[in-house]
Amino acid sequence: MKEEILLTKVFEQPIYVTRPLLPNKEEVYKKIDEIWESKWITNNGRQLRNLEEKLKNHLKINNISLFNNGTMALILGLKSLNLRGEVITTPFTFPATTQALDWNNLTPIFCDIEPDTLNINADLIEPLITENTSAILAVHVFGNPCEVEKIQQVASKYNLKVIYDAAHAFGTIVNGKPIGSYGDMSMFSFHATKLFNTIEGGALTFNDNTLSEKLELLKNFGLKESEKVILSGLNAKMNEIQAAIGLEVLNSVEIERLKRDKIKRTYETHLQNIPGIRIITRLEKELSSYQYFVIEVDEVLFGKSRDWLQKELEKYNIYTRKYFYPLCSDFYWYKNNKSADSLSLPQAYKSVNQVLALPYYGDLSIQNVITICEIIRDLHINLN
Ligand SMILES: *Cc1c(COP(=O)(O)O)cnc(C)c1O
Repeated sequence: MKEEILLTKVFEQPIYVTRPLLPNKEEVYKKIDEIWESKWITNNGRQLRNLEEKLKNHLKINNISLFNNGTMALILGLKSLNLRGEVITTPFTFPATTQALDWNNLTPIFCDIEPDTLNINADLIEPLITENTSAILAVHVFGNPCEVEKIQQVASKYNLKVIYDAAHAFGTIVNGKPIGSYGDMSMFSFHATKLFNTIEGGALTFNDNTLSEKLELLKNFGLKESEKVILSGLNAKMNEIQAAIGLEVLNSVEIERLKRDKIKRTYETHLQNIPGIRIITRLEKELSSYQYFVIEVDEVLFGKSRDWLQKELEKYNIYTRKYFYPLCSDFYWYKNNKSADSLSLPQAYKSVNQVLALPYYGDLSIQNVITICEIIRDLHINLN
């Protein structure tokens, strides 16, 4: 009986976890006309240079280099820093983070995470440093900034490079400074699922001006002028269509953030006081990238597990995502890596079974957000 009452709330159309921010089509067509007329469709064209300038302003940084996707940006960014040996990183991230290390023949040393933000636990980094350590690769998980000052302190003490996977942190400000200005380098992803997108795309921001030229070479076969090949590179260039899409999407980002801010407040209000539900992503305005809305389900307090809740929500046509899942330290090719042992990563192994990203995108209606929260609340109440 109870079940029947609840199921009257089933959505007719599926509610997906995210929807891409699509630019105005007419404006995109205009840009495509420009590109057709110029016949310059990739290799540092006008759209790309224009987007670089706009993004420098938007992200408030001095140096940026654009790529065909965030993963290639990270692979080549690590390459440009001449790292060797071991890199201390987090197991709680998207596979691209540690795979970028793999492609550079660098060994990830997994450091446990901090329970509040689920970012790398800055207090646990120092004991993992050996004579083989060359860098720290941290991730601003769900856009919540890492403890950037503490990480820099440890890095400076041992002369390590600091690279941030800032794929979730577009436009975030920390301690009054833009997030991309911390560390030696930050990678942003412009994948379709990210707040700002170029369909596929990515960028590196960095403080050392001399890296610009090296990154240009690395993403274009090491070609200097047309006949000199001065290093072994790859092809990782962003093309003109991607850049044009980016220019148009950038015009909608602020409006999208405002919509997502409202949705976030609604979730926060309506999920309040449901036992066992904790909101991981914070509200503070400039601190938030409005990239995801993620909760943690405490099985004991809520009464059922995260996996149970996810399956129940599907019955209502609500699609959520276990993000991140699985842990990178669980990849089979790290089975001989001692730092990947679950015993040394208790918090990561706990959190990975509790996180759930809820539907989050500007066009999600406030009424639907309220209904999603009511369903979660009812599911909890009906357990007792
Ligand atoms: C999306 C994402 C990436 C990968 O970026 P792509 O642009 O899809 O290659 C890397 N790290 C994190 C944390 C991400 O969320």
